[in-house]
Amino acid sequence: MLNIMLFCIGACLASFFNVVIERIHYNQSFFIQRSKCNHCQQILPFYCLCPILSALILKHRCLFCYSRFPYYYTLTEIIWGFLMIYIYHHYYSVELLWIFIFSCLMYFSFMADLLYYELYTWLFICLSLCFLLIGFIYCHLELNLSQLVIYLLIVTLLYPFYKHSLGVGDIIFFALYVIIYPFAYLPLIVFIATLLGLVTYCLLHIYNYQIKFLPFIPFLITSELCFEIFFHA
Ligand SMILES: [Zn+2]
Repeated sequence: MLNIMLFCIGACLASFFNVVIERIHYNQSFFIQRSKCNHCQQILPFYCLCPILSALILKHRCLFCYSRFPYYYTLTEIIWGFLMIYIYHHYYSVELLWIFIFSCLMYFSFMADLLYYELYTWLFICLSLCFLLIGFIYCHLELNLSQLVIYLLIVTLLYPFYKHSLGVGDIIFFALYVIIYPFAYLPLIVFIATLLGLVTYCLLHIYNYQIKFLPFIPFLITSELCFEIFFHA
């Protein structure tokens, strides 16, 4: 029963996060407005907003105009459902909150870059600071002063250019890894990310899938996950 409840909380959070990601991109308020169909702009009734279930019942289509909803809604709701169960059973009290904030940080960065080639800098910096502060005070995160100075320098110096230059968001995001990991690990994380990017590019090319740019943050996050699982554990 507890796991079902945790799964539902995770799925609802994912649904909310997806709305937040979309509305930040379109400069819309994500607290007041009711959810609409992106195609016909009809306000969706509450029973169409139930994570996973409504998508399955409506077959990923709008109730009014039958246009398709992206499949990633349901996929991410399922992933977050299982993630909440995992986090709850593996971490306690402040550490649980710490890992949750880290998951949100990674999720927003991953999806915003994947969908819109953006890093929501203010959200990223707020979540990063919460993550670093809680980690440093309560969760034995070792903060090296020189690494912290480099991080702050990168974020401050690059911030004015962020909106107009491709790749600056990636560097601001990567600056966080400069704090979390020792310098010696960083080339390996970049190497795995680049390799994953190249493989993805080749696969997209083979299957004739036209893509103008490849977002780099999702590869950096996947690379970090691989690194944690295979090298760091
Ligand atoms: Zn519609």
